[in-house]
Amino acid sequence: MRLALPTRLGGAVLVITIRDLEFRYAEGDFFLGIPELRIERGQTVAFIGPSGSGKTTLLNLIAGIVLPRAGRITTDGVELTALDDTGRRNFRIRRVGLVFQEFELLEYLSVLDNILLPYRINRSMRLDGAVRERAVRLAHEVDIGDKLHRYAPKLSQGEKQRVAVCRALLPEPGLLLADEPTGNLDPHNKGRVLDILFDYAARADATLVTVTHDHDLIGRYGRVVDFREFHA
Ligand code: ADP
Ligand code: MG
Repeated sequence: MRLALPTRLGGAVLVITIRDLEFRYAEGDFFLGIPELRIERGQTVAFIGPSGSGKTTLLNLIAGIVLPRAGRITTDGVELTALDDTGRRNFRIRRVGLVFQEFELLEYLSVLDNILLPYRINRSMRLDGAVRERAVRLAHEVDIGDKLHRYAPKLSQGEKQRVAVCRALLPEPGLLLADEPTGNLDPHNKGRVLDILFDYAARADATLVTVTHDHDLIGRYGRVVDFREFHA
């Protein structure tokens, strides 16, 4: 993997730099064009905009899951557009915490093993007692500590979402990308999950990028990116 130092702009460290991005799927006529987007370390950012405007697509581009047709994306000092599939995958597992819109839990694994998954699929990350303890503690913080041995299909949507949040936080990433992480939760749990994401970002000086439709919670974010501006 080619590592570079994060780009600096004045005093701020840029965690995400996008230039002249053009993206299309192989099928359909969806187009996302972003001339420039810069996100600094430690920022908390809300991606908002109508359904179908490309919010999930942009998270996938920033995580290196998909590649643009043109332009450059640098995430946490790594130019993703210059890496191959394996390089991008290794980068992602190590450095990016992802909470997927559809959770992407493995049905044949328990809650605990789903949370530990990043450590099982990346051999360079050591799964030791301290990591297990942290996994259990995270699960308790989001009220699923009593369901550690339950299998994913037997969880409610809200419980699955909280497992996905624990899994994303466990490797202590510098960048958290969360796709509607409070979408399936009641107001109490919404607040709690957001508290956990924001507390983590503050403590670890991590960057938090969240897709959200919860307009009443947008005031918590340091910055809002409205996708209508990319389709003007
Ligand atoms: P959002 O998250 O803002 O609701 P998405 O990024 O999921 O929007 O999708 C943007 C557009 O791209 C939508 O019109 C969607 O139907 C389309 N799209 C998403 N995934 C694919 C795919 N794999 N192939 C073709 N079109 C897709
Ligand atoms: Mg989406």
